Amino acid sequence: MANQRPLEPVAPVGMEVLFFYPCPFCGQATPLISPTQPSMLECNHCRKSYPILPVDEHSLHYMQIMLAGGKAAVDPDFM
Ligand SMILES: [Zn+2]
Repeated sequence: MANQRPLEPVAPVGMEVLFFYPCPFCGQATPLISPTQPSMLECNHCRKSYPILPVDEHSLHYMQIMLAGGKAAVDPDFM
């Protein structure tokens, strides 16, 4: 059962979009994966909390469809 053949490179089967929110106190940006609800965010740097604006679910859905959940984002030069 030795693995003789080299492994085929794997394509992504899903994707998430990261959004960066700058702290109003210290300026440090915190990455969040697609926050679709308004909420409070705690800064990892200065530990203060601040409210964030959510992102629009429809825009995210559109990106997911456009890129086929990441599959269509693969660089064709490597296929
Ligand atoms: Zn901060």
